[in-house]
Amino acid sequence: MAVENFTDIEGATRKPGDKYSEFTEKSLVGVYIVQDGVFKFVNRRFLEILGGDKKDVIGTEYTKFIAPECIDEIRRGVSKMEGDPGEPKHRIFRAMKTDGTKIYVEVFSLQITYEGKSAIQGMALDITEREMMEGELKKSETRYKTLVEEMLEGLWVSDENDETLYWNKSLENMLGYRFSEVIGKPVHHFTDNENSAILKKELAKRRKNKPSVYELEYVSKSGKRIPVIVSGAPTLDADGNFSGSFAIIMDISERKKMEGELLRYTEQLKMSNMLKDLFADIVHHDFISLLGIIKNYTDLMIYDEKDGQKVEKLDVILNTVERIICMIDDSNKLARLETEEEPEFKKMDLGTMLDTTIEALKHGADENNVTIVYTRENKYLADVNPVMEDIFINLISNAIKFSSNGGKIIVDVFDEIDEWKIMVKDNGAGIEDKYKKSIFGRFNRVSKEGVKGTGLGLAIVERVVNLHKGKVWVEDNNPCGSIFYVTVPKKRETLDAPVV
Ligand code: ADP
Repeated sequence: MAVENFTDIEGATRKPGDKYSEFTEKSLVGVYIVQDGVFKFVNRRFLEILGGDKKDVIGTEYTKFIAPECIDEIRRGVSKMEGDPGEPKHRIFRAMKTDGTKIYVEVFSLQITYEGKSAIQGMALDITEREMMEGELKKSETRYKTLVEEMLEGLWVSDENDETLYWNKSLENMLGYRFSEVIGKPVHHFTDNENSAILKKELAKRRKNKPSVYELEYVSKSGKRIPVIVSGAPTLDADGNFSGSFAIIMDISERKKMEGELLRYTEQLKMSNMLKDLFADIVHHDFISLLGIIKNYTDLMIYDEKDGQKVEKLDVILNTVERIICMIDDSNKLARLETEEEPEFKKMDLGTMLDTTIEALKHGADENNVTIVYTRENKYLADVNPVMEDIFINLISNAIKFSSNGGKIIVDVFDEIDEWKIMVKDNGAGIEDKYKKSIFGRFNRVSKEGVKGTGLGLAIVERVVNLHKGKVWVEDNNPCGSIFYVTVPKKRETLDAPVV
């Protein structure tokens, strides 16, 4: 039986196995007939949609299978149709399965005559899955739209001719043009000639399917120049062909301003460093010369003076002057080391440096009745700056200073494969744990009584060690005294000076 003959199916379903029943049973859509508000006929697919048996459905009110929120609307539709036979009606609404689950159905219904009376015959499709998917799609579309509109960066979409298809609110705020003013405008319309050339070069990359990130300067509607970072990528059509570009635009005006300030600050810093160096030079040269005069005259006066008490006083002057000279020397050295970033390195023998240092300090050690034990076995070659010698001078002279009469200092060098480990061990006063770190700071002195010093020696040691990417630390000697260790890498990655 053809569908157009459904309008009069008098007696067609009365006999099971007749042509109508046969057709509807095989149908992939649900078929039903409702008369006097109850189901009179349903096919197998319709029962599948509702998830029940014939006995659950036939003779039951159709409203039982409609979600409560849709009942009124469907009732109105049905009564309108009963009084208006003719065109089939189409409706989508929420139905209810026999177990109460809600589903979406799409129904095409028609007023017919059935068993001599008016009835409604319809076809139903379960479209729950489709509806859900469309719902999800709509949700995610809204989500993306919100994301794109609300994002802080600008989003610019252009077509295959580099003409603007879309730009978001951020771009409106950044460049001052409304989207309606720019739609269809070429993307390089908003730059000067120089930047337009950069942009065109970058856009050419999109046609080769290449994304890129670059800096650019746009000109806003009010004529303001806006520096930006552009992160652009091509968009492709379904066949994988170039169909346009999209770009994320980040306003970097603030960053550029900061960079400018940083540059100015660096220049100022360089200038004040130069002034500091100049000042250090003046202090060093002029003060030391003047102090030298005082020292020489004091020496002469001590030599000529017979009065013991006066000699004592002159000795105090001499010691103080010598201390000031030491302090100026050390401060000057530290100031220079602190601004030094990459000193020149050359291959040198640390053993020779130690020999020279010990030789120079031997006199002081003898005066204090302190013995220095150092047996050199080899050459200890390393890429160093000659300033390395300051480490040895400071550590060994400290060991002499802080040793008691008859003390013994042991100097040794250990081969630690990639580096040398230098040890200066004394059996003097030792250093309490709480000072083991702070003594490397400037002007940090622990035991001052009767011991000359500037409190800068170990700060110089640490700075020199850092410049050589080595380490320095102090441990306790047993039963008394300190052991200072310094490690120096044997090789520097870039060695620019010749071997000496
Ligand atoms: P200075 O020796 O001129 O005082 P340093 O920076 O060389 O300054 O040393 C800082 C302090 O560390 C010293 O004043 C002293 O208290 C302590 N110190 C350094 N070396 C030793 C040592 N070998 N034994 C005991 N104390 C030491």
